[in-house]
Amino acid sequence: MLRCPQCGSTDLYTMIGGYGGFRYRCKQCGYIGSFVLESDEELPSPVTRPKESEEKKIAVPLWLKIVVALLVLYMLLYLLILIP
Ligand SMILES: [Zn+2]
Repeated sequence: MLRCPQCGSTDLYTMIGGYGGFRYRCKQCGYIGSFVLESDEELPSPVTRPKESEEKKIAVPLWLKIVVALLVLYMLLYLLILIP
């Protein structure tokens, strides 16, 4: 059974085209391409990667926070020494 890689629908039909190959067209989302998923069993629809946004939220690593904290502390100490 062929599946659409975009929406997971099995409602595909074959087109002939491209460079000597088959192309598939999805009736559900309009996807056209030579790459389709092939599966015998029922699979859940491909999920639109939620990981990417989560990774961006925790993009600031711990060591960077420590470095920034140390830098601020160093600047404060430097100012305290300079002021008197
Ligand atoms: Zn589709």
